[in-house]
Amino acid sequence: MASPANIPHNQPPYPTQAALQAVKQHISHTPDALKLLFWPLNADTGPALETSGLKVMAAAGPNPKYPDPDVRVPYYDAAAGGAGVWHPISKLPVSAPKVSELVVQAWDVADWARGWEDLHWEHELEDNRIPEYVARGEGICHGCGVARPPAPKGDVSIVVRGTGGVSEGEDGGFVTVHDYVSTVHPWLVGLRGDILGAVGTASGNDDPLPVETELIVSCRLLDKLSVQKREDWIRNARKQRSPDDFISSLRDPSQQSGEAYLGPFGGFHPDPFMQQGRRRE
Ligand SMILES: [Zn+2]
Repeated sequence: MASPANIPHNQPPYPTQAALQAVKQHISHTPDALKLLFWPLNADTGPALETSGLKVMAAAGPNPKYPDPDVRVPYYDAAAGGAGVWHPISKLPVSAPKVSELVVQAWDVADWARGWEDLHWEHELEDNRIPEYVARGEGICHGCGVARPPAPKGDVSIVVRGTGGVSEGEDGGFVTVHDYVSTVHPWLVGLRGDILGAVGTASGNDDPLPVETELIVSCRLLDKLSVQKREDWIRNARKQRSPDDFISSLRDPSQQSGEAYLGPFGGFHPDPFMQQGRRRE
């Protein structure tokens, strides 16, 4: 078996993520690439990147490690250069080391069935089962009669192939930011209904999130994407960038807004008061 040192990864053909994993070499984000994306997934978000509202956040300022969620420029600038131009980060590799192929999972949907089990396990205990529901088979909870989520197809993932650093049509290029978003974005748009259902279940509800919920794709992990509600995502990004400002805003009630409510995992809350004050892109 090859040792990590035996896999060359500084020229094409670049190794696949799977080949690196086989020798226990992990990949990580490159700085100032995918982590700069402000990536909405709303009810009216179309599959075409040009009109998707995808933005690039500013990385400069007092804490450049964390981009500024309030300063954003378009990923696709229709006004520039006649035919329009993609932001320069589009050409950057997403990972270090570079890989020619990466499998990306829609984590919320992949985890949907497990989230449902968490929500209903007590209902399925012997004493809580209701014979009428048990008689109706495995498609429903035997304690409360709620239907199981539709089984996700496969592991809910997509393969991203790289085109960076090679001539057009040549194989073995590295996965760029543009390879990544142009493959993953239209796929996520198609999965949005399942994502709303999965996140609804994960937040302790049998109903999906309302279709108009504004979502942002979270790129914390290169190969497992999840979503957060827009207001939660922005609040977390501001907190990471300026932790001192965030803490002082919690101490000073006059600076608090409805958005200061933070869940235990920074996640979702069926809190009607967070449904207000939505902003359009
Ligand atoms: Zn149940």
